[in-house]
Amino acid sequence: MKRIILIKYGELSTKKGNKNFFINTLYENVKNKLKQFDVSIFKDRSRMYIEFHDSDLEEIKIKLDCVFGIHMYHIAYIVDTSIESIKKLLVELIRDLSFKTFKVETKRSDKSFSIHSQDMNHILGSVVLKNKVGVSVDVHNPELFIKLEIRETYSYVYFNAYRGVGGYPIGTQPKGLLMLSGGIDSPVSGYLAMKRGIPIDCVYFEAIPHTSLDARNKVIELSKKLAKYSNKVQLHIINFTQIQEEIYKNCHSNYCITIMRRMMYRIMEKMANKYHGFAIINGESVGQVASQTLTSMRVINEVTCMPILRPVACFDKLEIIDLAKKIGTYDISILPYEDCCTVFVPKHPVINPSLEQAKKEEKKFDFMSMIDKALDEVVTIEIFDDQQQFLELL
Ligand code: ATP
Ligand code: MG
Repeated sequence: MKRIILIKYGELSTKKGNKNFFINTLYENVKNKLKQFDVSIFKDRSRMYIEFHDSDLEEIKIKLDCVFGIHMYHIAYIVDTSIESIKKLLVELIRDLSFKTFKVETKRSDKSFSIHSQDMNHILGSVVLKNKVGVSVDVHNPELFIKLEIRETYSYVYFNAYRGVGGYPIGTQPKGLLMLSGGIDSPVSGYLAMKRGIPIDCVYFEAIPHTSLDARNKVIELSKKLAKYSNKVQLHIINFTQIQEEIYKNCHSNYCITIMRRMMYRIMEKMANKYHGFAIINGESVGQVASQTLTSMRVINEVTCMPILRPVACFDKLEIIDLAKKIGTYDISILPYEDCCTVFVPKHPVINPSLEQAKKEEKKFDFMSMIDKALDEVVTIEIFDDQQQFLELL
């Protein structure tokens, strides 16, 4: 029996003016994700169709489950558009299915087909009742949906849907730059931003020798998990050692974290300008630590006018952990290697910093030249879904 994957656009179909752009972006993303398979992909304004080899189906499903913009899909059986062929196929298909209640739903895309949808529902309903013992029709909450889509030459029969990851196709928004640490929150934020259609580059601040190469590898592993959802991600590694050491040498210890994060944001803005990023994304969550009170956020945010997306700003930690487990980043995030933020934590970071004081503290050292130096020394790694290669930044 020949089958086809049938993708329904869901949320995409509400994007009236932009619909073609959304569909074309999704099409390119699906094509890219499935490039290792011998598949043919077609699209129209309401559906995308993928012809595949049966032996690849399970692997293809795993790939499709990582493509944003797919809300649901079906594995549909292809049949000649004739009432006898449809009935025969249905009898074969239900033989091995176990269900107690069902509902038939017909969509007549080919209006020249002589039997109307409602009549077709009755005809096929009777076929099921006659050929399957102990089942009954339930139009409100059926266990099994039997869907028939009547088209000109071939029609499709399919059952309950597979859920996709939803969201918008990556590439329907311009790029954002994700501040990716080794913690739990930032990978989840990257995932949520990509789900809104934003392609991401990741930026990691490291402070070798205070932080280890194991900490860097952890961030690379996290980037690989995020790359599963896009085609590739670039990971930019910033040498933050000098800036951090100078902060701790010169600034009042209570203000070190505030100043450190203002420095990070300054660097992020410059990175965004260089790499065509339209927003900075991070894993800040309101109230989680001293630098994430609203007062702190305001003082830290003051150094940039870039939009800052904080997708987990209002999530509980447990909600973030649930998502981290779902996307496979949690087990990597809880590995013990220390990050530059955790190595240098002062005893009493200020919870309600004053902007005036933060500015005073910063005047104590020449940070601009250090920021420029850090930007000159960025190392970029390109990370693909299943491989990784190192690139020197030009
Ligand atoms: P945790 O899950 O333990 O809270 P975290 O990564 O969220 O880890 P925070 O100290 O809460 O750590 O930092 C807030 C946000 O700042 C992070 O989510 C991340 O986006 C960014 N950040 C912190 N440290 C770094 C770093 N070394 N490199 C890049 N971004 C960082
Ligand atoms: Mg955090």
